[in-house]
This record gives sequence, structure tokens and C-alpha cells, in this order.
Amino acid sequence: MSHRSEIRATRRHTLSRSTRSGLKNFCLLAPAAPLFSAAMLLPICKFGTPVLRQKGEPVTTFDPALSELAANMLETMRAAHGIGLAAQQVGKALQFFVIDLTGKPGSPPEFSATLDGKSVLPDLLMPLAAANPEVEILPDDEWLYEEGCLSFPGLTGDVARCEKVRLRYHDLKGERHEIVCDGLFARCIQHEFDHCQGVLFIDRMEKPDLMKIQTKVKQLKRETQARLRELT
Ligand SMILES: [Zn+2]
Repeated sequence: MSHRSEIRATRRHTLSRSTRSGLKNFCLLAPAAPLFSAAMLLPICKFGTPVLRQKGEPVTTFDPALSELAANMLETMRAAHGIGLAAQQVGKALQFFVIDLTGKPGSPPEFSATLDGKSVLPDLLMPLAAANPEVEILPDDEWLYEEGCLSFPGLTGDVARCEKVRLRYHDLKGERHEIVCDGLFARCIQHEFDHCQGVLFIDRMEKPDLMKIQTKVKQLKRETQARLRELT
């Protein structure tokens, strides 16, 4: 997922919906240092690549290869100025995603969170690598935010998502954890969890916004499919 870097606090629609986005191209700049020195950039699958519509298989092996995949995905995501990336986006249909919402030093966190029932500083949860995610929507408001997606370069639109979620997942060692969070973190989890099920942000985008980018979405799909045909 890519996102806008500031939040607009204007309310829109009904009482249960608000809009908090404001800027075009809402990318948080990622820390420059890679998580692992050997991390590699991976090609990001663009819309029209069949794997983006595949539901991911569960992760069953928690080995160095999985840690390497996480490191490569984080490196790839940061290089593309994203804040989340799912395995489907690097060509692997797995229940697996990474998120890093680390902002600029001194910038206020855009969410609060607990890990395994204890409050934690948001930055300590980052980067997050989550296998076999289960997402439970917790009762709260829905809010609109202008999302982007690294598989749809340059295309954005408002998406309504729930404010608060509970995420259960396996870490890279196969240990089970539970995060309860809100705000941008909860949104990013919902976006990446969708990818793991083959669901894309255009499926949830507000209809007027989708209409505005529909031609470009179709064009992207055609270009991706043409490129894939050239490769086979
Ligand atoms: Zn995405």
C-alpha cells in the first residue's frame, strides 16, 4: 500500500464516516538502511498479473527463506516509497505481508496499538512481517482515506475502511501474536490482508473515484498483459 502523508480531518458522508486524507501521492519515506544487508529488490506485479487475484496459501515453514522473503519485500516496498506489501505483489500467492509505518523522526504516530494485550510504542512494531493473518473488524467508525497501491502506480482513490482491527498472525519464527490497532495501521492491515485474499483496493474504492481512474486501470491491465505475453 502507498498512502498520503498527511491527514485531513474533515468529515464527509454520514456520522459513521470521516475522511482524513489530504495529499496526493501519500508515501511515507522509508528509513534508508535496509533491514538485512543482503536484501534484494524484487519486481512488483502490476494490475493484470494473475497472481494478484489468487488467494494466498498458508505459510507452513518458518525458515531462513521466509525471513529472506520478508527482508526482500521490505526493501522493495521502501524503494517504491510504500508502507505495505503483500506476497502476491512479488508473485507469491501466500498468506503473508509486510508493513512499515515508521515515519520521519518526531512526526506523530498515526495510530495506537497493543501487542499481545500490552500497549507498545508504535515504532517498536515496525517493520511488521505477518504470516497467516486473521483480521477481525472491531466496532468503530468507518473512515475514508485516499489510498494508493504499489501494483497500481500513480492511481489513487478514496476507500472506506474500519477504524479498528484485531490482527492475529505468525511472526517469522512461527510464533502467534495479536495486535489491536487503529488509524493508518489498521487501514494498512486491511489493505494487505485483502491482497492475501486476492482482493484489490479498486474493489472497495468509492464508485465516483473508481470511475475517474477506470480508463487508466484498464490501460494498466492491457499493458501488463501485453508485457506478460512478451515474456512467454
Ligand atoms: Zn496494494
